Amino acid sequence: MNEIAPLLFALGTASLLLSIKISSAARSLRLRYGLPDGDALYSDLSGSGRVLRSERYHLSGKPDSIIKEGRHLIPVEVKSSLAEKPYRSHQLQLAAYGLIMEELYRTDVPYGYIVYRNRRYRIELNDDLRDEVLSALDEMRRALRRGHAQRNHSQKARCSRCSFRRGCKQAL
Ligand code: SF4
Repeated sequence: MNEIAPLLFALGTASLLLSIKISSAARSLRLRYGLPDGDALYSDLSGSGRVLRSERYHLSGKPDSIIKEGRHLIPVEVKSSLAEKPYRSHQLQLAAYGLIMEELYRTDVPYGYIVYRNRRYRIELNDDLRDEVLSALDEMRRALRRGHAQRNHSQKARCSRCSFRRGCKQAL
């Protein structure tokens, strides 16, 4: 028992430090972008978030943050660009996170946030958006099977955050 006590103490301390780190990242995100209050369940703002995976859709990804609003878990994606309206590709990325989170946490994910430098948008993760993600995924897999898909960039960081990474043979 005496040998286990220090181990439990170390594990408890590590878990406390991790939770402090996550809440402090979430607090800075809230302050910086004026997001609503909500407990942070996950944060990749410092690049240390684990990869979230969906076995059902063969998707994986790392949202910048997951916050709890009311009874819902909400994905948050932070972009470094300005935008007068949310880009469709960013909405699809958010919807892909929603699909992953629904499987992982067994809960509804009805909306999410995309935060640009000049403003943030609440995006409803409706059936149309979800269908578009799944169609894009099917199309990408068909193109990969045909050998037609070609990567159009050389940014490792982009691939490391891509929801389609698991099924992509051209990932960097
Ligand atoms: S090449 Fe990279 S960014 Fe493009 S689909 Fe594959 S993993 Fe995603």
